[in-house]
Amino acid sequence: MKVLVAVKRVVDYNVKVRVKADNSGVDLANVKMSMNPFCEIAVEEAVRLKEKGVATEIVAVAVGPTAAQEQLRTALALGADRAILVETAEELNSLAVAKALKAIVDKEQPQLVILGKQAIDSDNNQTGQMLAALTGYAQGTFASKVEVAGDKLNVTREIDGGLQTVSLNLPAIVTTDLRLNEPRYASLPNIMKAKKKPLETVTPDALGVSTASTTKTVKVEAPAARSAGIKVKSVAELVEKLKNEAKVI
Ligand code: AMP
Repeated sequence: MKVLVAVKRVVDYNVKVRVKADNSGVDLANVKMSMNPFCEIAVEEAVRLKEKGVATEIVAVAVGPTAAQEQLRTALALGADRAILVETAEELNSLAVAKALKAIVDKEQPQLVILGKQAIDSDNNQTGQMLAALTGYAQGTFASKVEVAGDKLNVTREIDGGLQTVSLNLPAIVTTDLRLNEPRYASLPNIMKAKKKPLETVTPDALGVSTASTTKTVKVEAPAARSAGIKVKSVAELVEKLKNEAKVI
């Protein structure tokens, strides 16, 4: 089974993001960038399927700037066999990314596509679902367990109030939730080996994909600064403040 894994380059989750002075977006100058954590889980799941003998080839795909090669090299070090960068300097919305991924799916014909449930920069939670709509593939989102059962894929999903298991016909699309697995670290020998693995670059134009965005970011603002709290000496004082200062009771 060929598995395609979508990998996004995002601001590292440890970075405290700063908004640009003109409120046009987040300041990315000299900021550490990493693979989106949910994509790490997606790569890990594909590698585990390969270790079980279910997956035969893992292809990692990123849509983004030249620098996204770094995250593809990480995916290769973690166990992907080859990588494809759909290179563009434009900031793409989920639909444009899904269209680019659809073009790669058409070319590669994978049996399974694994994406993160959401990218931690834009929190869209849309790309997997949009790709499922464009390809007509079955989808299992927010997966906490994935099992291949013959020509079907059983996906256990985290939903409000519990777990739901769905059985999908292949080819299928899965998006990963936090508890699906715990991603491994890339070992130094594997990081070295990854440098020699194939990484192909294509443009959206060559794939016949339009990157024109249907949405525009109007403004990005930091959350309002919270004022410092105070310690009250008694319940009576707390009640008094809630009543007369906060006016919430
Ligand atoms: P989103 O819908 O933007 O929250 O992203 C959900 C998932 O879609 C991510 O975890 C990735 O697996 C995939 N994805 C989103 N944007 C990209 C991108 N530019 N390149 C590759 N994969 C992406």
